[in-house]
Amino acid sequence: MGLRLQTNCVTRLFKVPIYRCPRCRAEDISADAHPTRVIDNGRLRPVLVCRNCFRAAELELRIASDAAGLTLEPMPIRDGLKLLADHYLDRLAAIDSPDQLLEDDQRAALKAPIATALEDVRRRLAIDVAR
Ligand SMILES: [Zn+2]
Repeated sequence: MGLRLQTNCVTRLFKVPIYRCPRCRAEDISADAHPTRVIDNGRLRPVLVCRNCFRAAELELRIASDAAGLTLEPMPIRDGLKLLADHYLDRLAAIDSPDQLLEDDQRAALKAPIATALEDVRRRLAIDVAR
């Protein structure tokens, strides 16, 4: 018990809000998510997965669409980017939540990679509008 507490102190200095990939349930997709879709009750539902799961999820989607007799249209790029922007905004809001007992520097360190990912998505959205 004492050892476990000590390990927790060393490895988890503060509680980090982790948002895991719904497919593998291993990777944290807080700052690196990839939009795809799943077939849910015969309808396409957007979902975000980790980098490792993306290709497999897309392949599963194609196979499931064929099996269900659905015509699969590619997800419009802007839809995927908007999904990502919403996801990153939600993650930033979760870190800013008063329920997260974090020091300001911890909060800033957690938010930095997510903010960078959000900036990248917004830049890609802006480029897409310019076309
Ligand atoms: Zn995954």
